[in-house]
Amino acid sequence: MEFAIDIRDMTVAYRDKPVLWDVDLQVAPGVLIAIVGPNGAGKTTLIKASLGLIKPAAGSVLIHGKPYAQQRKSVAYVPQRGSVDWDFPTDVLDVVTMGLYGKLGWFKRPGKEERVDALKALSQVGMEEFANRQISQLSGGQQQRVFLARALVQNADVYFMDEPFQGVDATTERAIVDLLQNLRKQGKTVAVVHHDLQTVSEYFDEVMLLNVRRIASGPVGSEFTEENLRTTYGGRVAFVSALSAKQTS
Ligand code: ADP
Repeated sequence: MEFAIDIRDMTVAYRDKPVLWDVDLQVAPGVLIAIVGPNGAGKTTLIKASLGLIKPAAGSVLIHGKPYAQQRKSVAYVPQRGSVDWDFPTDVLDVVTMGLYGKLGWFKRPGKEERVDALKALSQVGMEEFANRQISQLSGGQQQRVFLARALVQNADVYFMDEPFQGVDATTERAIVDLLQNLRKQGKTVAVVHHDLQTVSEYFDEVMLLNVRRIASGPVGSEFTEENLRTTYGGRVAFVSALSAKQTS
């Protein structure tokens, strides 16, 4: 079988300090996978290295059997909300339309058709009425929805999302979950850095537990175990016990 995401032997170091060590991850098409692990575990680094934004010391990444450079147009990335300058003077529609630049090429300006697509993506995340709003005037949850629309408009096959649920209210969380389910229904593959261990089993098919090394990855039912969580999170297991209590109740 050809994997949608196939990461092999990935090692990344910042100034000689390894932050990812010999990590493998294979994800089949149409799977929603959560990437979990403590702060500093290398989750963002894994995504950035997969997208060629950081050069790994070793390893390879194939997206649907080909190097990322050949698959750019079929991969969408939702970065962490905090990694972006939201004071930049631009409006919501522009941010979403910019998601199409990879497809259009830098020299073709977006036209009417692209704007229609961008508005459609905004309506999918319930943000169409904000199309002309300056991005500096959005709430955190609205910013997150705009980012998702920007990824949706690319109509990619593989999505990498870095903490899309961070700081959003319950309504936006539900909207994002619905959107993930819709992507899966369309056969898309979505890898999501996720912090809320309580919702991993409910929202995702598979999980990767990461702490510099890959601790485990695979179906939530077999891999999201107390033992794997203890190995991943070390001594900080109070919430892990709460989790397993919930699972067995
Ligand atoms: P996570 O997403 O799991 O919280 P990151 O991938 O952001 O972890 O970071 C992994 C480790 O790499 C951390 O120890 C972090 O401090 C370090 N790191 C991240 N980016 C850089 C950078 N640009 N330069 C040096 N160290 C970095």
